[in-house]
Amino acid sequence: MAEKRDYYEVLGIQKGASEDDIKQAYRKAALKWHPDRWVSGTDAEKKTAEEKFKEASEAYSVLSDPQKRAKYDQFGFAGVDGAGGPDFSQGFGNLNDILENLFGGHFNFGGGGFDFGGFGFGGGSSRQSGPRTMRGRDIRTRVKLTLEEILNGCDKEVTIERNRPCPECNGRGTKNESDIKTCPTCKGAGQVGQTVNSLFGRTLTYTTCPQCNGEGRIVSNPCRRCGGTGLERRKETIKVHIPAGVENGMQITVRGEGHSAPRGGVNGDLLLLVEELPHSQFKREGENLFYTRVISVTDAILGCELTIPCLDGPYKLKLESGVQSGTVQRLRGKGLPSVNGYGRGDVYVKILVWIPRKLKGAEKEAVERLAASSAVKPDPSREDRALFEKESQYF
Ligand SMILES: [Zn+2]
Ligand SMILES: [Zn+2]
Repeated sequence: MAEKRDYYEVLGIQKGASEDDIKQAYRKAALKWHPDRWVSGTDAEKKTAEEKFKEASEAYSVLSDPQKRAKYDQFGFAGVDGAGGPDFSQGFGNLNDILENLFGGHFNFGGGGFDFGGFGFGGGSSRQSGPRTMRGRDIRTRVKLTLEEILNGCDKEVTIERNRPCPECNGRGTKNESDIKTCPTCKGAGQVGQTVNSLFGRTLTYTTCPQCNGEGRIVSNPCRRCGGTGLERRKETIKVHIPAGVENGMQITVRGEGHSAPRGGVNGDLLLLVEELPHSQFKREGENLFYTRVISVTDAILGCELTIPCLDGPYKLKLESGVQSGTVQRLRGKGLPSVNGYGRGDVYVKILVWIPRKLKGAEKEAVERLAASSAVKPDPSREDRALFEKESQYF
């Protein structure tokens, strides 16, 4: 290759890109250029892909290492001279393994589902080098919310029981650093290799080290308070921010608020399942709210002003005279916000007119006088055509 391209340019990212951006960019490049993907290409295409893959791998090996990245940022290629890229003289490695190693271990996408009883392991590659990173279990719990809380979002206190680092040994499992030793069986790798003769010849398989359970370390002289697990069960109340607009059945992931992993490692997540409490006045459908109001027959005839108890305060709704029973009024933007932050839903107010059943002397006479007037006779030729059209319909 002639002139070396800038590492950021190679991965198509900005200089300030986050660790995650770098991983994602490399993942994209690997998916596009890894030789595994070019089995059917021409020789020239394969060659180009190989070069592109090497270039991206080198860029990734530098930018994913904070120290090398800092040097590169300051001094350019001169700062990382000799660091070079990964050694591909033995082949390019399996694409799946590359992708798995990329995100395995330290990151957990989409809440994950690892549950190995006591604790989980991040990642899933059986050919990882080095001990596996322990990951604490996730905790699932429900959070009950009123529509008012959902309207603006809120901070909610959640009480959970979880494993946290033992205060006596700071989660190490033993008081003295010197009592933590590299596992002699696996030499700290967390895995042991075994050659197996099979139908396909001799293959090397790796299994979790039986002595250290994959941790790569052995703790002697365990802490008396936690028995060497480095963990302590604690009931704790934490404040969790609930975003506005959430809905029944949604899950909110709070990173790192689950169980701690034994003797260091990564915390699990707290997964909150949203449970919406029923509201006395409003029925919710997505971002819209539905409300029904019964008015008197005189209010319907004369018109009136109603106070609608909207979630963010009373709203004055003016009804013109002659409002029909069953009319629906829409209050734009008075509903719930969308959870993505795009505007707000509406409130739909349905008006029902109540007809009195028992009237006494003078009241009855007044209505009887009214009944004689042509003004109260239904007349399709005048107005409310839509209403009279319903007359000819079945239910
Ligand atoms: Zn071991
Ligand atoms: Zn302890």
